[in-house]
Order: sequence, then C-alpha cells, then structure tokens
Amino acid sequence: MSRFLSARRATLAPYTPGEQPKDARYIKLNTNESPFPPSEQARRYAAEAAATLNLYSDPECTTLREKLAAICGVEPGEVLPTNGSDEILNFAFMAFCDDTHPAVFADITYGFYPVFAQINNVPMIEKPLRDDFTIDPADYVGHKGLVVIANPNAPTGIAKTRDEMEAIIRANPEAVVVVDEAYVDFGAESCVPLIHKYGNLLVTQTFSKSRSMAGARLGWGIACKELMADLNAVKYATNPYNVNAMTMAAGIGALADESYTRENCRTIMENREWTRQQLTALGYEVLPSKTNFLFVKHPTVSGEEIYTNLRKKGILVRHFTKERIRDYNRITVGSIEQMRAVVAALGEEAGA
Ligand code: PMP
Repeated sequence: MSRFLSARRATLAPYTPGEQPKDARYIKLNTNESPFPPSEQARRYAAEAAATLNLYSDPECTTLREKLAAICGVEPGEVLPTNGSDEILNFAFMAFCDDTHPAVFADITYGFYPVFAQINNVPMIEKPLRDDFTIDPADYVGHKGLVVIANPNAPTGIAKTRDEMEAIIRANPEAVVVVDEAYVDFGAESCVPLIHKYGNLLVTQTFSKSRSMAGARLGWGIACKELMADLNAVKYATNPYNVNAMTMAAGIGALADESYTRENCRTIMENREWTRQQLTALGYEVLPSKTNFLFVKHPTVSGEEIYTNLRKKGILVRHFTKERIRDYNRITVGSIEQMRAVVAALGEEAGA
C-alpha cells in the first residue's frame, strides 16, 4: 500500500477471482466457464470488428441492444449492455444506494455484492439463508434501497421459481430488486417477463456462461425505461464506451447462433444430472442445482482436503473458507470427459 491510498480505500476487501492458471495442466472446474468454444459466428464477427478498432465503439450498443431486446421480448430501450454483468451490478449499487438506502442480500451468495457495497460506501444488510441454503422470503419484505438476489443462487445452485421471485419484488415497492440471472439458462425461470409489471425490477444476465464468452466480458441489464435512464446516467458518468467493439460484435454473432447456445446448455444440464447421480451414489451430498455447477460436500472428508487432493490430481474446483460453506466445494459442470475425471477422483476421496 502506498502512503497516498485514501483512508476510505485502505480497508477495502476486494473480490477474489477464481484462479486462472497459466498452464493447461489442470482440468479447470473452478470458475463456471463453459467447456465449449464461443460460436463460430461470434468469433468471425469479432475478427471482422478488429479491423475498425481505430474507432471508438458505439456507446449506445444499438445493434446489440436490438438483438438482445428481440431475444428477451422487450424494447431496445429496456436493455443496457455492460462490461460483464459485474458492471451492471455495480451500476445498480451506484444508482440506487446511499447512506439511507442500504443493499440487502444473502449471507451465502455471489461474493462481489459486499465488495460493490463497500467500494460505493453503501451500508449492507446480510440475510442468512435457511439451514437448507434456501432464501427465506420473510427476510425480504419492505426494504428500501437495493435488494439483490442471485437466482439461481451462487455458489449453492439453488433456484426459486418466478412466482416466488415475484412475491419478493412485490413485497419491496420502495426498493429496486435486482435479480441476478447469470446462470438462468441452465434450467431456471427468468423474471424478464415481469419487467413491464414492476417498475422496481432490474434483471441482469451475462454472455459469460451459457454463451461461452467469459473472456469477452459482456453482460446486460433489463428493466423499465425509468430505471434504464438512471443506470444510463451512471454509465455515461463512468465509461460511455463500456463495451468494446470486438466484444460487441462477438455478442451480436452469438445471438445469431442461439441454437448453438441451447444445444450447449442442454449438454451441460445432462452432464450435471449424470454427475449428480454419480456423486450421490458415492455418498456425497449434492445441492439441487439449476446452474452449470454443483455444490458438493462429503459427510466425513473436509472440503479443504477434497479441494487440495483434487488439485494434486490436476483438477481445480472452488473452495470457499466462509464458515457455513467450508465443507463444500463448487464444481463447474464441464464436458462429459471432465466430469468422468472428477467423479473418478472424488470416488478415490470417498474411499470407493
Ligand atoms: N453473478 C453471479 C452470481 C456470478 O457468479 C457471476 C460470475 N462470477 C457474475 C454475476 C458476473 O459474471 P460476468 O461479470 O462474467 O457477467
């Protein structure tokens, strides 16, 4: 730390991203990336856009917004593309929170929410999940500021239905309710159809998981035009060219290839079910997942030991040290070959 760092930033606890090893020694199941390459159209469009990198990217993301709107069944003015969905989440904290408008979220959820709260100087209220790691709707009533719910949740993988989410949105008319749908394409119900019914709903989605574009950094928000005006004000005060030209082109290409996305999601869901069955048969406890990962615990072997031994065998998964979940590991669902390898290794851990 230099002597120039502001006192406000000195206590900042940044988000810790999953490891990105530089060698290809590992079967990498630690950051919920897709095992499949981006669609060919995405790659081709991005390569063509490289020829125009002397120009700034379109700050309005006009074509991308039109395509996203068509796919989501909303108006282009109800869509805001961002640099990963992390950016639209940060914009929401910047736009809708202050000293008297806190951010409310679960104790076990996406680890970036507390960081967004801290960097934006926003008070936060953490609501413990129930013992079975589900959200208690009674905790989400009558808040003001921002309510943030990952649905499906991470790292648990558990999803609420749209009806359950709608009840929470309705119960918080004085708060903006953010539904973070980073993993929605793997079997959960989206709240996008509700944006015309609720002026306090912001849904966020991403190209990082189902569309195999984590490295491109592309996400988007969907909300009514009034919320969009607020979020756009923050965007134009922060980084008007927040989506670079190659990423924007890749996104347009990916959206022209939705059958590829759907097919990949189907494969991941099949691989997830196969892995869940295998691990359950080996004695592991596996939470019900609607995502591209599984949250897994052995009744007697510690989470850390499993993490360390898998790593020695060349398999990277994600282990969190937080008390309530330290016995678990989060395992990304990859190709069937990767899943066979992880099941074989976990079989050895379980003494099978
Ligand atoms: N929300 C959740 C719940 C996530 O797990 C992630 C991925 N780390 C994100 C949002 C952000 O993803 P991205 O910025 O790649 O769109």
